[in-house]
Amino acid sequence: MIYDVAIVGGGPAGLSAALYARRAARTALVIEKSRAGGQLGATAAIENYPGVMRESGEALAGRMAEQCAGFGADFAEGCVTEYALRGDVKALRTAEAEFLAKTVIIASGRRPLPLGARGEAEFVGRGISYCATCDGPMFSGLDVYVAGGGDSAVEEAMYLTKFARKVTLVHRRDSLRAARTLQERAFANEKLSFVWDSVIREACGGDVLDGLVIENLKTGAISEVRADDGMMGLFIFIGLLPNTEGLDGLVELDKGHIVTDEEMRTNLAGVFAAGDVRRKPLRQVVTAVADGAIAAMQADRHICGLGDVT
Ligand code: NAP
Repeated sequence: MIYDVAIVGGGPAGLSAALYARRAARTALVIEKSRAGGQLGATAAIENYPGVMRESGEALAGRMAEQCAGFGADFAEGCVTEYALRGDVKALRTAEAEFLAKTVIIASGRRPLPLGARGEAEFVGRGISYCATCDGPMFSGLDVYVAGGGDSAVEEAMYLTKFARKVTLVHRRDSLRAARTLQERAFANEKLSFVWDSVIREACGGDVLDGLVIENLKTGAISEVRADDGMMGLFIFIGLLPNTEGLDGLVELDKGHIVTDEEMRTNLAGVFAAGDVRRKPLRQVVTAVADGAIAAMQADRHICGLGDVT
């Protein structure tokens, strides 16, 4: 089968693209490597998406996926590793399958950036996590550290105070990057404290994480914190890397992000990008779904032969 629109990534941008493609009566396939919702699915609380007062990212993403499926979008599981995007029929390959489509929307999002601390990889799943919604409850009553100072770190740190005995946010500067409203709430949270001008250099332990080595960047002082209860948590939110493997040399990239115009067109005819993987000034759910809608409508126009006319 040759789909009208194949969408790489099932986050808000990809799901919105599939919804708009289906409503334009185009066959649409969403290829997602893990869970529907992408980074949104791993977000504790969403309260800046118009019309949603406060809700878990997982619940919002679930409803988006359900809505898409209701309109007849197809879903496939897999990680697209190879792209053939130049002809009229484009091919997307995963380890298990090949999918063909007249147009492609790349909405593959971004993935968490590792901190680079010694021992980090060793303790992932045994104390270290990049997803508070997924792993927060495992740290009930324990001490939890959070690395980062942006919206994700502050928001997820506050979420983690629901479970942890105490949450300590370690930031490399003396002021946060996160939005003012988040900062105000974070400073008012009695279970949340801050270690400024510092980075976590090493994760220590046996079977599980039970210690961290922290360096103060201003003084050079090294300190060690140990778990009182034999285990502690470290959640890392220091930014994200674009998922553009296999696209280098094929699609124009800028620092790994896909370059598009305002209609979400890439440098290749019939290939569009949407959401966080795109070079853009504001990465939010609201901008991701807008990108997806625009990309789908442009894909529809491309199939109609309207090509680049806007
Ligand atoms: P981010 O905004 O890029 O923030 C990354 C944070 O990690 C910064 O505070 C940065 O420090 C720190 N950092 C970077 N590299 C580091 C390193 N090697 N060691 C220690 N610290 C390091 O990333 P994000 O918070 O994941 O957010 C990503 C995007 O999603 C942003 O556009 C954000 O606005 C958006 N987002 C929005 C919401 C919301 O609106 N509710 C929620 C989550 C995310 P510096 O400050 O010193 O650079």
